[in-house]
Amino acid sequence: MTDAQLRQIGAGVYAWIGAGGDSNAGAIETPNGLIVIDAQQSRAYGEKFRDALKASLKSPVRALVNTHYHLDHVAGNVAFAGSPVLAHEKTLRALESEIGPSSGATSVSAPLSKARLFFGGNFAELVPESERAWFLNRVGGTRPMAILPPSETFADRMEFRLAGDTLHMEYWGPSHCDGDLAIYVKKIGIIFLGDLFFHGRFPWFGDCDLNGWIAVLDRVLQMDVKTVIPGHGEPASLKEVAAFRDLLAAIRSAVQQALTGGLSEDAAVNDIMLADYAAMPRYKEWMPFNIRSAYRYLRG
Ligand SMILES: [Zn+2]
Repeated sequence: MTDAQLRQIGAGVYAWIGAGGDSNAGAIETPNGLIVIDAQQSRAYGEKFRDALKASLKSPVRALVNTHYHLDHVAGNVAFAGSPVLAHEKTLRALESEIGPSSGATSVSAPLSKARLFFGGNFAELVPESERAWFLNRVGGTRPMAILPPSETFADRMEFRLAGDTLHMEYWGPSHCDGDLAIYVKKIGIIFLGDLFFHGRFPWFGDCDLNGWIAVLDRVLQMDVKTVIPGHGEPASLKEVAAFRDLLAAIRSAVQQALTGGLSEDAAVNDIMLADYAAMPRYKEWMPFNIRSAYRYLRG
């Protein structure tokens, strides 16, 4: 697939699937307009998504909701200026920790600030200076990025009434980052998981709460859900969510074993190799940092 595309997933539910594993987004019809889910990795990508919604669907945008604070999901918020932007209160707090309190779009250009908003607050601790080039390039170096922060936040849950169904937006604790939302349309069984679920590609751990992340996926696996929209990758079912949960658990148990065996963090990075996952995109580049992240988390 060479271009992002809008796909209907169910009645009134649409997914915008990023090209080549770029971040996904979505839109859900309500009687009062669209609830848009996430806004892409840049203003240009956000505008393209917004224009596709306008061209394909008749409804105006009622609100945009951010699944979490990472820039590949919120940098396009500016394309939806004029609409309310909703998020968990921790998403706003994470953005404000870099851009300061703001009621409008604020420019951020410091590469380390952008890297923390893209890869987690522990980026500088996790990735030594000599290995930062790829990451700083990924966030656009010193190029200014306008961030439109959420205008309205909530703590645990928020619901929207649909015609004959309910749209739920829920926070289930620290997991892939802190402030992750699970967004689902209950009766038709469709859930948007943001980066709680990477499909067909290796995740970035950063400052994740690994036990919390696995627990959230276990909760999803108990739900009556037919279609799952990941933060990156193709729409899937609970079967693929279970496989992703097992990937996280495999890393957790390998790192736990290294800790129990008295291995140092560097030794764990050298020794741990998960053959089942080694062919996944980004495994080679990200696994060493994921081991470091899990090691520090499990060591406490
Ligand atoms: Zn993310």
